[in-house]
Amino acid sequence: MDGIPLTTLNDGRSIPRFGLGVYHVPPDRTARVVATALELGYRHVDTAQGYGNEAQVGEGLRASGVSREDVWITTKLDDGRHGDPRAALAESLERLGTDHVDLFLIHRPGDRDVDTWRALLDLRDDGAARSVGVSNFSRRGIRALVDATGVVPAVHQIRANPRTPHRAMQAFHRRHGIATEAWGPLREGRLTTHPTARRVAARVGATPAQVLLRWHLDRGLIAFPKSASPERLAENIGVARVRLAPRDLRAIDRMRRRP
Ligand code: NAD
Repeated sequence: MDGIPLTTLNDGRSIPRFGLGVYHVPPDRTARVVATALELGYRHVDTAQGYGNEAQVGEGLRASGVSREDVWITTKLDDGRHGDPRAALAESLERLGTDHVDLFLIHRPGDRDVDTWRALLDLRDDGAARSVGVSNFSRRGIRALVDATGVVPAVHQIRANPRTPHRAMQAFHRRHGIATEAWGPLREGRLTTHPTARRVAARVGATPAQVLLRWHLDRGLIAFPKSASPERLAENIGVARVRLAPRDLRAIDRMRRRP
């Protein structure tokens, strides 16, 4: 979609830097929410085995009429499945109704992450997961994967937003060529009432959520805010039209909580 930048991952693939997160979207609403989002122009959906709504993500995709190849789908390996990622991904693909996901992440670190990571690399080589990465890891945990296999995760999905941007982790990502995905970009919605977000929004003629989301895109982060309401889905993808000046970005940078 015009106005949504792409990030080129370390495996050469391009990911839309904005999408829809479906954590806590109830399964009985997910298909409608996903179809609405795709009709509005979203081309990236972030789900997980643990969210219990993969089947409905697939249903929404088919209902939208948008081609599978035009949509980036991420899912994540459940904590209880670290021993058999291949079987777990096969079940996800069955539920999603697709033969591959675009990104498969280890949702949270476990006890035998190197073995799990090797299994994800095999799945990438087979094409069932086109890109692979991790979520909620420490720097040391990522280094252990790289030391053991020589393969750097394409993505690290962490909780990040203007208030807690985790700059040291982002600098680590840049040094190693890892793309940063920010979960909770609106801090579960709470940042939209922050005075800075309101002030910048009024200045540029946008909404607080839009300027916060634009900050993520302009600062090189990948963000997929969750919403189940058609109005907010439309508002959030309006980020594509929002332009922030350097001073707006710096004002939002200053929302960072002092260490
Ligand atoms: P978020 O920051 O996206 O906040 C979502 C909440 O913000 C919504 O429930 C709604 O209440 C509010 N909101 C949305 N649009 C708004 C708007 N325009 N104006 C005002 N309020 C608005 O938080 P999130 O859902 O936790 O994170 C986004 C996605 O990140 C999730 O859906 C999921 O896909 C992913 N995630 C991943 C992990 C992980 O461990 N990897 C953890 C949590 C979330």
